[in-house]
Amino acid sequence: MLKALFPNGAKKAFTLSYDDGCYDDIRLMELMSSLNIKGTFNISSELYRPDGTEPEGYWPRMTRAETENYKRPGVEVALHGVTHRDFTKITGPELVYEIMADKHNLENMFSTVIRGAAYPYGTFDDRSVETLRQSGIKYCRTVWSDYSLNMPSDWLRLRPTAHHADPKLPELVDKFLTETPRDLRMMYIWGHTPEFRRDKNWGLIEDILSKVSGREDIWFATNIEICEYDLAAKSLEYSADGRFVYNPTAVKVLLERRPDDAVAVEPGALIEL
Ligand SMILES: [Zn+2]
Repeated sequence: MLKALFPNGAKKAFTLSYDDGCYDDIRLMELMSSLNIKGTFNISSELYRPDGTEPEGYWPRMTRAETENYKRPGVEVALHGVTHRDFTKITGPELVYEIMADKHNLENMFSTVIRGAAYPYGTFDDRSVETLRQSGIKYCRTVWSDYSLNMPSDWLRLRPTAHHADPKLPELVDKFLTETPRDLRMMYIWGHTPEFRRDKNWGLIEDILSKVSGREDIWFATNIEICEYDLAAKSLEYSADGRFVYNPTAVKVLLERRPDDAVAVEPGALIEL
């Protein structure tokens, strides 16, 4: 079995995940666009700031009209519970509604199929994981940092690397940038953009993003792009002697034959290695 590389031949992926559909997401998305960095925004699609009000106060969300701002390249929209209720503290039908109503609203707003999520309050249990799985959701992010750059072992209980203001993050960013990994690595930073407003620390994320941006040894992708690529790489089927490999997925997977020698396994292709 050969090790996978990311689509650009890199072994490192970088992504962001920001919650609640807040007004300050616009500033973060503009920063991301200017640096070619991609990421995911998790939205509760029944919670908007009223039309005609200013984005002021502690936690300003977007108005419904302002959510048009999420329609830009490099941005994935994911569900976050339609009214942001704790998935572990509601009845089964309420849980189904929180997931499916949000999925349905966002799909209609953004003309897409929503396949990603973040747990409201970060809380989850086996029932919520199973309900998400049955709803066609491929990954769901918790808020429990794992301080690791390893690829996730369970995408429906996804643990981020760290919150943007975590004091351990700068060291992890340096490690991510300097190490030469044998296996795939992912740096996954999460938060809420009103925290930058509240804590007056936009410089923190500006520094991190400018530090990582523009590097050819990193794949910049949304959450679902990394998730789908990882799931596809893990779905490859090998012959008993490892000579042939079959890709049953819709995602092209790049494999490392030797250092500086990669082979692409196209969707549906069977190739000899
Ligand atoms: Zn939230």
